[in-house]
Amino acid sequence: MQEENFETIAIRLQAERTQYKEHSVPLYLTSSYKFDDAEDMRALFANEKEGNVYSRYANPNTTELIDKMVALEGAEAGWATASGMAAIFTTFGSFLKSGDHVLSSRSVFGSTHQLLNNVFSKWGITYTYADLDKLDQWENGIQPNTKMIFVETPSNPGIDIIDLEWLGQLAKKHDIMLVVDNCFATPYLQQPIKLGADISIHSATKFIDGQGRTLGGIILGSDVLIKEIEGFARHSGPSMSPFNAWILSKSLETLAVRMDRHCENALKVAEFLESHASINKVMYPFLPSHPQYDIAKKQMKQGGGIVTLVINGGVEAASRFMNNLKMFSISANLGDTRSIATHPATSTHSKLSEEERLEVGIEQGTIRLSIGLEHINDIIADIKQALS
Ligand SMILES: *Cc1c(COP(=O)(O)O)cnc(C)c1O
Repeated sequence: MQEENFETIAIRLQAERTQYKEHSVPLYLTSSYKFDDAEDMRALFANEKEGNVYSRYANPNTTELIDKMVALEGAEAGWATASGMAAIFTTFGSFLKSGDHVLSSRSVFGSTHQLLNNVFSKWGITYTYADLDKLDQWENGIQPNTKMIFVETPSNPGIDIIDLEWLGQLAKKHDIMLVVDNCFATPYLQQPIKLGADISIHSATKFIDGQGRTLGGIILGSDVLIKEIEGFARHSGPSMSPFNAWILSKSLETLAVRMDRHCENALKVAEFLESHASINKVMYPFLPSHPQYDIAKKQMKQGGGIVTLVINGGVEAASRFMNNLKMFSISANLGDTRSIATHPATSTHSKLSEEERLEVGIEQGTIRLSIGLEHINDIIADIKQALS
């Protein structure tokens, strides 16, 4: 049979039906599973046969979600966690030991910064930050003890991009693991493992749920690497709940159509903002003015749902704009059906110093817009009236 397409996998890859022959997969709220007999229990615990033992390890709902994500992203195996941060923590915890070094993009999610700066540094793991648009910093940043390269592309909130094929080759040449936080793109727009990454991580909280209901994280990679993840996660317990997995697996059924519309709306917003006099700068991967437009076109199917702008007039102008918005929600979340405005300098990135913020391209006038699925005319009308 010919390889199935993204939409078909996202809808048709389902857990086996029960004796009730349900069309939609049921929710398996069970913490544990029964064994047929003492020998069955022994064999399952000895990993001599496949089967569910305990929901900290696996559950039919999390297994279905993982199987889908694995197929959608072209990985071999995966693991589900309670949140995106749990996925990042689990990945670092599984592969890094005291004395190791991480080369990370400077512009990473605020909590990822906190993990590197304040948690793993206590455990003897060092790090260096490099800018996505300065390739020499990546070549020169590699040390003899560099174990992992970690990147977010497109980055949050600066929308910087790095060529994943290039970075994958660099990592391979030095025998370093490449980990990509693929949250902004989702498997529909970008598939890092096919481009050379070893591990791809998602905060499923964002576009994968897409409706602002639940937290979740996914780690994808080879069988060998996910075995390591499993060894760490089984015993440290960052597991995703069956209920969240059930929601997220259903959400994947509509990911393609939702992302098409998020991207279509976001591109229109980016084009509108670029033509507006009060706006200093607009960052969107599929705007020809984006410095890495050619790379974005090469490795992403579309530009994604996030548009970042810098408004003239600093923090006062940014606050005025946010307060003038009538429909947009002011929230720190993103990837929702509802359009959202965030002021990173005073929220998601407030823990960084002003200097660190400028290094990752966050100015006082920077605003991140997560473009939702409302009608495009209403989205643009709200931005227009808030700017005037
Ligand atoms: C939100 C986010 C995370 C963290 O995910 P949670 O589900 O909130 O823990 C990590 N990386 C990126 C890029 C994010 O946007």
